[in-house]
Amino acid sequence: VSARIGGAAAWPLLAILAQAVAAEGPARDSLAERYAGVAGRIIGAELVQGRAHAMLQHLTDRIGPRLSGSAGAEAAVRWTRERLAQEGLTARLEPVKVPHWVRGVEEAELVAPNRHKLVVTALGGSIPTPEPGLSAEVVEVASFEELAALGPARVRGRIVLYNRAITASEGYGVAVVYRTRGAVEAARHGAVASLVRSLGTHALRAPHTGAMGYDDAVPRIPAAALTAEDADLIHRLLAAGENVRVQLRLGCRTLPDADSANVVADLPGREQPEEIVLIGAHLDSWDLGTGAIDDGAGVAVVMESLRLLKVLGLTPRRTIRGVLYMNEENGLRGGRAYAEAHGAELMRHVAAIESDGGGARPTGFAALTGPGGIEIVAEIASLLRSLGADGVSAGGSGGADISTLRPARVPLLGLQQDGKRYFDWHHTAADTLDKVDPLELAQNAAALAVMAYVLADMPEPLPRPGTAE
Ligand SMILES: [Zn+2]
Repeated sequence: VSARIGGAAAWPLLAILAQAVAAEGPARDSLAERYAGVAGRIIGAELVQGRAHAMLQHLTDRIGPRLSGSAGAEAAVRWTRERLAQEGLTARLEPVKVPHWVRGVEEAELVAPNRHKLVVTALGGSIPTPEPGLSAEVVEVASFEELAALGPARVRGRIVLYNRAITASEGYGVAVVYRTRGAVEAARHGAVASLVRSLGTHALRAPHTGAMGYDDAVPRIPAAALTAEDADLIHRLLAAGENVRVQLRLGCRTLPDADSANVVADLPGREQPEEIVLIGAHLDSWDLGTGAIDDGAGVAVVMESLRLLKVLGLTPRRTIRGVLYMNEENGLRGGRAYAEAHGAELMRHVAAIESDGGGARPTGFAALTGPGGIEIVAEIASLLRSLGADGVSAGGSGGADISTLRPARVPLLGLQQDGKRYFDWHHTAADTLDKVDPLELAQNAAALAVMAYVLADMPEPLPRPGTAE
């Protein structure tokens, strides 16, 4: 409107025009209306010619398990960086020191009152048993309160079994503490080893591994997960008044920390490239399966979102940055390293979105924003109604990796998937490619690409959440 069209006489006309533009501006032209066309393009292109499943197939079938410090993890770092660079994105590695734990032999047997092979898997971070294994009576509890009530007299010299079934995915969050802290609490009362009933919603005698930790104030004891079927067997024998004895042999070890990296790739913004919408997932996985649902699916949809926006020539106002985090599973070192290395620019991170809930159909977003932000996210998500991904809830932490951005008050979003079957396979040998439907994965990529694009392109960024308590 600054063009000279008739000198001073034109100014009243220009003022009227400017008013009209303002009236027709953001107030009437909603985000949903403004971005409906571009959302349709993204969704259509992804559903017709998406590459997310092909990427996931390479990551799982050709690279395989990606436990931090392993050769698989390093192959995944190299391949994802190269693949992103091939798409014309500026991809780089940012160093992360990671724990390096290796599994080794894992065997268990019921030796009294009769003999049964038991199926166990070591928890990540566990120390080994002495060679050639340890043998002890089992004491069963369903909670730390029950353990404390038994006290050292009933626990000393024994193996503690935390036997608490989870039947729905919500149960994981309640029971996970027996996996992460079970060994510490058992050792506090004098136990020689800790077993946790597998944290899963389905049982085909497949044990679920996962991270555990120690406390320097108490002795370290070996820790493993026992299948649901075998936990039930021990429960029945104990209920019948038997003394149950288990022989356990674990050969796991912790090696010196290893050098690894987060993979970071930018789609630079056209107007405010220094402002960033981060989209992230974690590149490492457990070692039993090939990490297809946890979190190969997330890695594939982050890479695919960047690729798709690039090939469609959609360059948003701000930068969209993909971050493939290393070591979410047993240390969160990648999440912490990113927050530390980018501390000075986190005030210019206008949003972060993580996908770490598997590859089943997307249902929407959980969002932690400032006042009014959730309504904006809901309006953008309304563009995803055709995918069924328009559900929006307030709160959450976005995901473990991006939760490290919370102190910098970055708005955090978690892409949500249908989680009904997630904990059937999570952290087991059954976390493999066949659990991910190509169309559902494409729907996730489309949902993430649309949300990231609009957040990066809309005139005003999301309101930032308040200071964390
Ligand atoms: Zn995960």
